[in-house]
Amino acid sequence: MIVGEQKNIDEIAAMLEKEDFDNLLITGCGTCVTVSMAGGEREVNALAEILQAYFASKNKNVKIQKATVKRQCDFEFLDDLENEVDSTGLVLSLGCGVGVQHLAERFPDKVVLPGLNTSFYGAVTNTGELAERCIGCGNCVLDEYHGVCPIARCSKSLLNGPCGGSQDGKCEVDPEIDCGWQLIYDRVKRLNKLEVVTGYHEPKDWQTYRDGGPRKHVNKEYFGN
Ligand code: SF4
Ligand code: SF4
Repeated sequence: MIVGEQKNIDEIAAMLEKEDFDNLLITGCGTCVTVSMAGGEREVNALAEILQAYFASKNKNVKIQKATVKRQCDFEFLDDLENEVDSTGLVLSLGCGVGVQHLAERFPDKVVLPGLNTSFYGAVTNTGELAERCIGCGNCVLDEYHGVCPIARCSKSLLNGPCGGSQDGKCEVDPEIDCGWQLIYDRVKRLNKLEVVTGYHEPKDWQTYRDGGPRKHVNKEYFGN
């Protein structure tokens, strides 16, 4: 899922200070960022309380509305926000960067501000903890590495590792994180496929990554071919 974390209140306040409004809509997203506890209904309510106190301290009379949709990245669910957006001067989204942009596209006459910093695609690894597992390269090579992504999990994204700096299974870049190549080694040793570590991996085809500009996924099922 997409992982994000809420911008700190000073940053949010500084964004809001630049705008002229007396009615603010805080929108949450009920999917990924709810799981990362950054932008769901609970966080919308908490931020609304903090901002209400902030506006009061500035002697500003701002009405705050709150609404959380199932997914901000789907127009189908943004239609549910039409009335709230119509009656507000400003939208503060607690969705990921995709959600913010989708809101801006759906409601082009409104200012839409981001309340989160979008981080990565991650998995739940512990209660309240999500760890990066994929960068969305568009050409998955997990078959070559038997289920451990060297791009997302090695700090240097080495396709042929390890780099030699690993200590006790930890990464030389940050001893708090596991060495991605140690994880690959442990996995392929278990599978009796050590050639993954001893062999050579050809350079990867990066044409599917985003250097060619924004990518698009077309679901062919919709078009019957
Ligand atoms: S190889 Fe690419 S698509 Fe596959 S997990 Fe790694 S970053 Fe994600
Ligand atoms: S120590 Fe491991 S994870 Fe860190 S950069 Fe080297 S090979 Fe990659």
